[in-house]
Amino acid sequence: SNIFFRPIEKINAVIESYPKGIAGFKRYLEIIDTEPEIADRKEAVELHEVKGDIRFENVSFGYEPSRRILNQISLSVRPGETIAFVGPSGAGKTTICSLLPRFYEVEEGRITVDGMDIRDIKLQSLRKQIGIVQQDVFLFSGTIKENIAYGDLTATEDQIWEAARRASLEELILSLPDGMDTIIGERGVKLSGGQKQRLSIARMFLKNPPILILDEATSALDTETEALIQQSLAELSVGRTTLVIAHRLTTIKNADRIIVVNTEGIAEQGNHEELVAAGGIYSRLHQVQHNHS
Ligand code: ATP
Repeated sequence: SNIFFRPIEKINAVIESYPKGIAGFKRYLEIIDTEPEIADRKEAVELHEVKGDIRFENVSFGYEPSRRILNQISLSVRPGETIAFVGPSGAGKTTICSLLPRFYEVEEGRITVDGMDIRDIKLQSLRKQIGIVQQDVFLFSGTIKENIAYGDLTATEDQIWEAARRASLEELILSLPDGMDTIIGERGVKLSGGQKQRLSIARMFLKNPPILILDEATSALDTETEALIQQSLAELSVGRTTLVIAHRLTTIKNADRIIVVNTEGIAEQGNHEELVAAGGIYSRLHQVQHNHS
């Protein structure tokens, strides 16, 4: 599943209605940030200096009225905490995370950031606080530099390099014929899944949001790439409230808290040791994964 691209039908519709000729990425950025698919309430406010306290209070949601996916979910995440959502495919891990940036509206209950109902926050301001990292990152045909700068269009060259370094992209960039100015995409250098993910991490260092959503790759990456990404993500998540849709045992083990989701809702939560000791769903999942690795 893909949290960022799910509302693509809507985004496409908006893109179609935009005048042609505006630089592709800028247009996309404007749409992501200001797309009026949900109108702000008149009293909606801007967020400043967000600590990153997140609460789900009795949240219920379904994509169709006839089929509830989330039923009365409650969850609170402390500022700076990293939580990992685990559980079977289709349990609703991605759905939970996509309600936070308001890709979809809750049906019942509410979600708060620093105590404020997210429906009382200007959508653009809310989304500015949330960074999303995933493998199927949106890249446009342009240079590496432009693709990284998409995280912050006002970034300086030095800041872009710093972000690239922190995302372990420096070596790759230096090995390319035109360095930062190398064109990527259809008409340029093709990046691997792991490289794209690192590029997405570099953007996030520039965007510098207090809240992160990490949608981990389900596909296998080679061990070295995996280690680079884990290291960059660990650095990125320091001091940020981080929700991980987790597939990798290392991420799960390192999370401050693991939330086990199944079709009934939140089944278990605790850290790795606690959940293994509890001998429930997580300990069985862990055993299976362990035997396969
Ligand atoms: P995975 O580990 O496979 O990513 P998940 O736990 O993240 O799964 P979700 O992607 O949140 O699960 O899906 C939860 C349920 O919602 C599934 O039954 C799925 O089929 C359904 N669903 C997801 N997205 C949509 C959508 N856009 N429209 C309708 N149903 C959807």
